[in-house]
Amino acid sequence: MRLSLCCGFLFLLPTLLFGADLPRTYLVKGAERFSPEQQQKLTQWLDFGVTQTARVFGDYPFTMELHLNPRQSRQPVPWANTWRAGVQSIHLYVDSRFSLQHFINDWTLYHELSHLALPYLGDRHAWFAEGFASFMQYQIMHRAGLLQQSPAQWYMDKLGPHRRWYKSDYSVTEVANRLLTQGKYPAAYWGSAWFFVMADEQLVKQKGIRLTTLIANYQHCCRLQDNTLKQVLTSLDTLSDTDLFTQLYQKFTQNPARNVLPVSID
Ligand SMILES: [Zn+2]
Repeated sequence: MRLSLCCGFLFLLPTLLFGADLPRTYLVKGAERFSPEQQQKLTQWLDFGVTQTARVFGDYPFTMELHLNPRQSRQPVPWANTWRAGVQSIHLYVDSRFSLQHFINDWTLYHELSHLALPYLGDRHAWFAEGFASFMQYQIMHRAGLLQQSPAQWYMDKLGPHRRWYKSDYSVTEVANRLLTQGKYPAAYWGSAWFFVMADEQLVKQKGIRLTTLIANYQHCCRLQDNTLKQVLTSLDTLSDTDLFTQLYQKFTQNPARNVLPVSID
């Protein structure tokens, strides 16, 4: 079912497919800045992204806004970010000359949608938020059948060129924060993503569940209650009946990065 509202489009996606309790809703803003054909392509793309993300996390317990902005570039989505004060929003800068398939194959929308699975944690913990979204974008793309290789292989390939930064006596978070301030974003993101690679491995080993399942459960109990990283870590520990998230946090903030990340293999 698709409903139009005054200042955008409200989409109520079919919930029966996913056994959801509540209709999953999102608003598209800015579509009128594109031609009718481009609007159709862009809304198809957004619909696909939200549906595939919901296959992994289930429904988010809020209505999000997806803002479309025209931008000429050499890629379909050259820039995007999330706005978290009040309405949970994603601002997407798109070059609508690219085909629907180019948009679907682009990782950006899955990355930004993943950010919304956790509350805003503040600049100080950007490493955690970016590591999370970087990890999850490939989980969503894998579930959607868009990857030629496993997410595990992607994480290794992505970390590969940046390993030298983490052959360090500083902690992973100290290294990642410094890389962020220097604008070395991929290096910061893929080192930080390892927090979630390790959390996923340990969850499977200790409890036989995947991190994606835990994050789907997190939406129901805690997403709208937590406001700090400490609260998120505590919620995830409680939900999984482990202490692995606070343990991993200690490791990532206190141990030398060279002893935490797989960086010594040449
Ligand atoms: Zn991000």
